[in-house]
Amino acid sequence: MTKPDIPDLPEPRFQINDLCALTDLYLTPEEVAELYRAYLVSAEAHDGQMRRSGEPYIFHPLSVAGILARLRMDTPTLIAALLHDVIEDTHITKEQIASTFGAQVADLVDGVSKLRNMNFANKAEAQAASFHKMIMAMTRDIRVILLKLADRLHNMRTIKHMKAESRRRKSRETLEIYAPIAARLCIGNLAEELEDLSFAGLYPWRHRIIKKQLEENLRKHHELLNKIQAAVEHRLAQQGIAAKVELYQKSAYALYKKLPRKQRGGKQLFKDTFGFRIIVADVDHCYRVLGAVHSLYKPKPGNFKDYIAIPRANHYQSLHTRLFGYKGLSSIDVRIRTQDMQNFAEYGIIVQGLYRSGKAQAWLGKMNDLLGENPGDFVDFMANVKLDLFPDEVYVFTPKGDIIELPKGATAVDFAYAIHSDLGNKLNAVKIDDQMMAPLNTQLRSGQTIEVFTANWTSPKPEWLDFAVTAKARSHIRQFLKGLNQEQAMRLGQRIFDRELERYNLSVDKLSDVQRQLLLEKFGFADFNALLTDIGLGNHLAYLVARHLQPELQDTPLAPLNTQLSSSSPSPLSNAPLVIKGTEGMVVSLAKCCRPIPGDAIKGYVSPGRGIVVHTHNCKNMNAHRSPNSLLELTWAELPAGEFLVDIRVEVSNSKGVLGKVSTTLGNIGINIEAVSSDPHSGANSSIDFSMRVRDRRHLAQVLRALRQQVAVKRVMRKTA
Ligand code: MN
Repeated sequence: MTKPDIPDLPEPRFQINDLCALTDLYLTPEEVAELYRAYLVSAEAHDGQMRRSGEPYIFHPLSVAGILARLRMDTPTLIAALLHDVIEDTHITKEQIASTFGAQVADLVDGVSKLRNMNFANKAEAQAASFHKMIMAMTRDIRVILLKLADRLHNMRTIKHMKAESRRRKSRETLEIYAPIAARLCIGNLAEELEDLSFAGLYPWRHRIIKKQLEENLRKHHELLNKIQAAVEHRLAQQGIAAKVELYQKSAYALYKKLPRKQRGGKQLFKDTFGFRIIVADVDHCYRVLGAVHSLYKPKPGNFKDYIAIPRANHYQSLHTRLFGYKGLSSIDVRIRTQDMQNFAEYGIIVQGLYRSGKAQAWLGKMNDLLGENPGDFVDFMANVKLDLFPDEVYVFTPKGDIIELPKGATAVDFAYAIHSDLGNKLNAVKIDDQMMAPLNTQLRSGQTIEVFTANWTSPKPEWLDFAVTAKARSHIRQFLKGLNQEQAMRLGQRIFDRELERYNLSVDKLSDVQRQLLLEKFGFADFNALLTDIGLGNHLAYLVARHLQPELQDTPLAPLNTQLSSSSPSPLSNAPLVIKGTEGMVVSLAKCCRPIPGDAIKGYVSPGRGIVVHTHNCKNMNAHRSPNSLLELTWAELPAGEFLVDIRVEVSNSKGVLGKVSTTLGNIGINIEAVSSDPHSGANSSIDFSMRVRDRRHLAQVLRALRQQVAVKRVMRKTA
């Protein structure tokens, strides 16, 4: 018979009827109909768009759905596969998908779109590992990753249509990021195909050489391999072990990867490219097969691995051994495992999901024959397989796209210190994704982009220790606070003491060595700075220290400090109050009862161990029970630095969205709200309390004015003690 004259046809495309036939094997008719509906929507949305190969775009999502249907993925995943490019490339929105196919499908499509927007290009090779961990950590639903892998697989299968440059880029990205993800999820088939395709894309010549050798090897050793297989099968049968023996050939990339780096460019001779997979019923038989095989061929010492007793990190299980070969075969690898282990090696986390769902057994029996018959009720187990492969880490981006790995619960403070201690020490504000001025204690989530803002006037705060989790951040904060405290206490101590010494027409600098020595002995300090520090910390009152310089005054009741309040005071004390700049840190603190801000009339007292506590002039707490000796007249520096906490109360009419409006008003004038609380019980009006930061009284007045302009706002006032 002569061959009929048929022109060369292009490779048969995977069509919608193929998808329906494939899914009909395990989905209900309703689900298949739903898939068809999704196909129509996608085809219409992509209408007119072409793949680079010149074929209509819809064949790409169809093929992706086909890859996933062969993995027996559930209906939402397959629908999402059909729609996976519509948000990015067509007029269809996430909301439209949600209303037509449900929120689950919409989330899946959205998840894939987000991954697509992550730009992996030009990233250092060293970061690839972090990338693949991060993708897994940030994707809560593992189906998104499977979608992405299937998408990438089809793109790699059709990579020949791409330009050389993007072919290389895509190949590298696949090799460094996506193939390892597939391997980590232990989807062996997927990982291997991705590897091989990207190896070919990246090094076409090297790939071709190895491939050719593999074919030659097979031709050359074909008979020998058949003999060995028969011998193994015979021995197992003799021992009454039911087993399936399969020959496999190592992949081109697996062989290439094993080469030392500097040999990779040259021409290599690959001899040992074969192995046998032996699949048995249970674990017990695995070890019996091992014994049988070792009695038949001598094992190569040092090559036995028991991954059954000690599984790999990705839960892969198998026995590995290597046998001496003969007649030109120097060695043969043998992998011995159960059918379950084989299924896991090929389908990884997909089967594992089934194990967890408890419905695995019935399905597993059919895993081997994937296109075989299968009852229709496929459980959507995947939705329940939460991805916690890296439960203790979060991965976030710097604005430049570098990845920072942090422990779970880490905040912007940890992030800043992780980059550089200076960044942490000067941390002023943070932007998380698009959220400007997120609170510093916000816990970061994988995939977020974190931008930190520094300011010279700011410094680490004691409260950071309440939420910073990394050792690096915590030790820097502690160290800073300690050093700061000492240093600032010393400077403050000098200022307080100077002010005191003015009574005697003295100053710290003018003190003679004798006078210094006297004080050091009296108070038991080795150096003068330590004494000043103690004064600054409030452990010694300046006026008591000063008195020791004037022994003759000690017996007469010295005019106490509070005499400065009285105009009849005989004391030559200067009227100049101590200047507060707001940058003194821990040795000058602002009282929480009245929350003084620059512009307020202030007073302070010296508190042991805490330095100066500043109150407003009319604060009740201030005037109540303070010893007059510890009172200090204070004033603000002309340009105090920083922003200061203030509490305000806003009384509003009870209408919808009032809180939002008020917050927006504050946000619009650049106010950072630290805390909000509102009074739940009330009639027509209710009150909301805000803690916020302002620069000074004038800034506060501006805020209050802006709020009063709101219709819903009835009254605004500053809260003081
Ligand atoms: Mn795609």
